Amino acid sequence: MRHGVLCALLLTATSFVGTTFAQGLDAPSTKAMAPASADLILSNGKILTPRGWMPSVAIGNGVILAVGDDAAMRPHRTSRTRVIDLHGDTVFPGLNDAHVHVMWGGLQLTGVAKGINDLMSSKIASLTRAQRTAAIQAGLQEMLSYGVTSFNDALSEEEDMTIFAALADAGKLKQRVKVCIRWDGGAAKAAAEALIENRAHFSRKRITTDCVKLYTDGAPMMRTARMLEPYAGDPHTVGQWTIPPDQLKQLVQQFDARGFTLKIHGTGDGAARSSLDAIEAARKANGWSPQMHELAHNSFVAPEDLKRARSVGATLEFSPYIWYPTPFEDVATRATVGDERMERVHPAREAIEAGALVVGGSDWPFADSVSPWLGIETLVTRRTPGGGGHAVGEKEAITIEQALDMFTVNAAKELRARDKLGAIEPGLLADIVVLDRNPLQIPITQVHQTKAKLVFIEGEIVYDAAKPRS
Ligand SMILES: [Zn+2]
Repeated sequence: MRHGVLCALLLTATSFVGTTFAQGLDAPSTKAMAPASADLILSNGKILTPRGWMPSVAIGNGVILAVGDDAAMRPHRTSRTRVIDLHGDTVFPGLNDAHVHVMWGGLQLTGVAKGINDLMSSKIASLTRAQRTAAIQAGLQEMLSYGVTSFNDALSEEEDMTIFAALADAGKLKQRVKVCIRWDGGAAKAAAEALIENRAHFSRKRITTDCVKLYTDGAPMMRTARMLEPYAGDPHTVGQWTIPPDQLKQLVQQFDARGFTLKIHGTGDGAARSSLDAIEAARKANGWSPQMHELAHNSFVAPEDLKRARSVGATLEFSPYIWYPTPFEDVATRATVGDERMERVHPAREAIEAGALVVGGSDWPFADSVSPWLGIETLVTRRTPGGGGHAVGEKEAITIEQALDMFTVNAAKELRARDKLGAIEPGLLADIVVLDRNPLQIPITQVHQTKAKLVFIEGEIVYDAAKPRS
């Protein structure tokens, strides 16, 4: 109401200025717009912003109105503004998980699946809609508990998409979801293409469905990752193609022309090269599109290809969180590729120094935890969470600021939403997280324990650790 009156006054003032200048010239108004009123002010905190730490943030209509001190809040504060005293708590922008399998992770949380083998078994095919819905809701809640406000569901099937859409319609899906639909060249080709055609049926305000997932190779520990050089002790094996290079070029070119963003699975350095070749060919054929096609995983990428990622407009997504000693990577992968290549496993530092757009994903439940804080700590230490022991690929260690960027501002760029997400600054959507500690002011070996106390999406409280859902 008050806002409306101010706008009416402002309109009158503008018309007056208009008649003074007359002659139909569009004279710029020198009157400032009335400050928008805040629904919510978080005060007395440590808020991470591009201008440094700030004590307060004002939020109105889901948008960040102002960051700064009490004086900066005052113009936005009305009798209806809710004020939350943070008592010195730390506030970060919401985090993005660039690669996760929500239903599979949730099936483990709800006890329906015990491990990865269970997930791959036929048992999963016979699950009811109710079991799947419960699993997805458990997965969503688990991610919120770490401050994950947006994610890429990296291999969505029709059932997942149906449930995401139903939850959104019921007001129960709060996070932003980028769904990637698997393209299949085999028996499921017709079904996959029908689902891709029908994608808009599942898109919602916070669900985008214009991503297609392609597989170029397998995984190093199975010797199915496509490598540039043979596997250790096996001079005749360089791995396999799931989609060979010529076919990949055709597919990337076709999907790029139709406006899709591609997420291309590749773990070997040969697969990475083939994906970059395909993206480069699509740029030449179609011209530059805004889609930042993604190479997923990137266990191994040749140095010259890291440099190409920037020049062809590709995003490098590092996942799962296994760039520290795990049986999965440090033992099984090391055994197949040898010690020398392991020195550059998940080459995050080189990728960032080459100017590539780099994002991080858990690949949960293939990583033990969906916590991005586990990923962030170990990108810096390259050691077991909590420290100690030996490091893996230590030369590829990055700073915590670089690691945070992978989960915030870089992810927003990849989503083509940097004008809406990725930082706490006026004009962006209020996807923000109150944390239980300050990851930038504690020993790095404690960062993996970070949890969210409160999570806001567009200014709405969507998670409160003090009131866990039953
Ligand atoms: Zn995955």
